[in-house]
Order: sequence, then structure tokens, then C-alpha cells
Amino acid sequence: MIFDAGTGIRALGLELARQAPLDIDIYFTHTHLDHLAGLTFFAPLFDKRNAIRMWAGHLEGPHTLKTVVKALMQAPLYPVSLEAFQASITFQEFDCGTVMSCGDVTIRTGMLNHPNGATGYRVDHKGKSICYITDTEHRPDGIDANIVELCRGADLMIYDSTFTDAEYPSYRGWGHSTWQEGVRVADAAQVGTLVIFHHDPSHDDAFMDGVAKEAAALRPGTVASGLPRVVVAHEGLILTP
Ligand SMILES: [Zn+2]
Ligand SMILES: [Zn+2]
Repeated sequence: MIFDAGTGIRALGLELARQAPLDIDIYFTHTHLDHLAGLTFFAPLFDKRNAIRMWAGHLEGPHTLKTVVKALMQAPLYPVSLEAFQASITFQEFDCGTVMSCGDVTIRTGMLNHPNGATGYRVDHKGKSICYITDTEHRPDGIDANIVELCRGADLMIYDSTFTDAEYPSYRGWGHSTWQEGVRVADAAQVGTLVIFHHDPSHDDAFMDGVAKEAAALRPGTVASGLPRVVVAHEGLILTP
């Protein structure tokens, strides 16, 4: 199970490609470019031994996931078309809010507050749960009850922390939240570990170290598994609950 296809999916694809034949599900939160730009560089798509299903729950007619990927792979944006993929590929649409399963994994979905729509995911497996909540703008009138409901009691929540509370007023309507709101949502939903994610590219390492320090002061300590109660995501990060 892979969630979104940003630039990070390229390195993952190189690692997975050695394990073919592969059976992969890619779940999209939405199809803004930062979540899609890596897809055509995902090596397993070019191996006919692999089966890859792609899922989206945010699109409304006339758009489908297939038409969006097709639009990305056409002149003058891209040199080859969808037919360049060799793997057996299926595109699956679902209604956001649907509960799905993948083997013995349960996948709950919920609507996020983002321009053009986005889907939040909660994945439950053998008593452990992870929520993937990006991209979403918090509500002006208080905490987003839908998100708290979806994430209640989860072991880990990856949250759209693009801005800080101080920066946010300049970016109303961009569809993103703040790391401080992430702390408030995590506390309200009694989430174990908050993962601060979807950093604004203008926040450099020194800035993010500052965020890590401030966030750790608000959510000190570790959960039973040993993970900190707050983590700032970085490229290649592996968390073992
Ligand atoms: Zn977006
Ligand atoms: Zn995004």
C-alpha cells in the first residue's frame, strides 16, 4: 500500500522493482501535482510482471483518475503516453467516506478541506492504526470534527503542517493547516504520535529543527512502543511502531 506519488515514490520504486512480481495499491489523497509528479518515475509501472491498482475518492465528473494521469502524460508535458506503462494497471474510483479493505487491512476514508477535494485515510491492521491527513485547511470555527472522528485513538497521525499559526493568516484559502493545529487535533483525537508533514519548501532545516523543539515541548515523551509523541517527517524516514 502506497499513499500518494510525490517525488519520494521514485526511490521507493527502485527498491521495490527488485522484488517483482509486485502487487501494489496506490491510494491518492488527491491529484495536485505535488502528490502526482513522481508517478511516471515509479519503476514498477514499467514491468509487465507487476499488478498496480490506483485509487482516488476526490474527483468529480468529468474527471477520473485515469483521465488525470492521461492528461499528465501528454504533449507538451510528457514524452510518452499512458501506454508506456507495462504493468497491469487498474484505476479505481470510490466515494470519499467509503470503508474499504485490502487483505486483512481496513481502510477508512474521510473528506478533507482542500481546493478540488482531498481524501484522508485511516489504516487499521492487527490493532495498530495510522492516519494520513494531508492536505487540509482547518476550519475557522474550531477543530475539524470529521478529522478528529477519523483519527480517534490512532497510534499515528501524519498531518498537514505546511504553515505555522503565525504564517497562516497570510495563506487562508490555500488549503493547508499548521503544525500547531496538528497538535490540537492530535490531542483532541487522543492520537499516540503526531507526524508533522507537508512542510512549506521555504522552511529550511534550521527552521524545522526549531519546529521540532517547540512541538516536542507541547507533546513531550514517548508512547508505549517507544516512538516520540511528535515527529517531524523528513525524506527517507522509517517509523517502526
Ligand atoms: Zn493539494
Ligand atoms: Zn500537497
